[in-house]
Amino acid sequence: MNRQKSFDNSNPTLYLVATPIGNLSEVSYRVITTLKEVDYIAAEDTRVTIKLLNHYDINTKLISHHEHNLNTAITRIIGLLEQGNNIALVSDAGYPAISDPGYELVSAAIEKDINVVVVNGPNAALGALVVSGIAPQPFMFYGFLDHKDKNKRKQLEKLKKYEETIILYESPHRISKTLELMLSIMGDRKIALARELTKKHEEIIRGNISEVLTVAAELKGEMVIVVSGNKETKDVEFNNTVIEHINELIELGLSSREAIKEVAKIRNLKKSDVYNEYHTIKEDR
Ligand code: SAM
Repeated sequence: MNRQKSFDNSNPTLYLVATPIGNLSEVSYRVITTLKEVDYIAAEDTRVTIKLLNHYDINTKLISHHEHNLNTAITRIIGLLEQGNNIALVSDAGYPAISDPGYELVSAAIEKDINVVVVNGPNAALGALVVSGIAPQPFMFYGFLDHKDKNKRKQLEKLKKYEETIILYESPHRISKTLELMLSIMGDRKIALARELTKKHEEIIRGNISEVLTVAAELKGEMVIVVSGNKETKDVEFNNTVIEHINELIELGLSSREAIKEVAKIRNLKKSDVYNEYHTIKEDR
């Protein structure tokens, strides 16, 4: 057990500071004072964070906490904390550790009995959720889907069953393909695509996946997809047979064994039944 009374001990503190996701005015007084008062700011990309620091006239020393030097960075940051320094961790935007580096440093700090304290601010997922018009709870934050179609398809097959509202991060050059896959796998669900939140070109597109798809190719900027959960689309039905489903997965590169296992899981069927159906049909040919 690790019991932390954040403001009632003399241990050093790692502050997890959420920073703007676009609009630089979106910072609290506490964010500014924390960034000014700590001994170091550990940043995902110091070139991004310096813009925020310059804007608010913050002169705290920046150190790097980049994905590509994570182990070295963590060793250095933990060393500085153990010497009694307080450190603020920031990512390029929003909360550190949310689809951004941070989790490993938090775990390492907790191991060493260092206080880990959050300083709240904007987050793209929650911003999109509350403006989506889709049931805000229960929700499940998934973050980025895998870039590879085969893996993305597998992930969507799993997500399809969730009754919770689902929140996804996606990049503009993958959005059309992702929505196409979502349509074919999850059905024509109600979604909201929130892009460029808090910025000049902020836009929220609410509709069914097929409607949003008609404009997806022209969309630019950072975006979040909020997808209604399975219970809001009670009529989600499989538009393919078990055999067609297996063959589709095989075409995507799964072995017949993997495809049978996956189809049984997705359709909530017994693996032996799916196996028998597949092999009976094959032998009949
Ligand atoms: N740590 C961040 C947070 O707390 O939201 C998320 C960082 S993740 C690397 C970046 C992704 O967040 C983008 O690809 C996009 O999906 C989403 N995002 C960030 N800023 C956004 C914005 N202003 N509007 C919409 N989505 C945004």
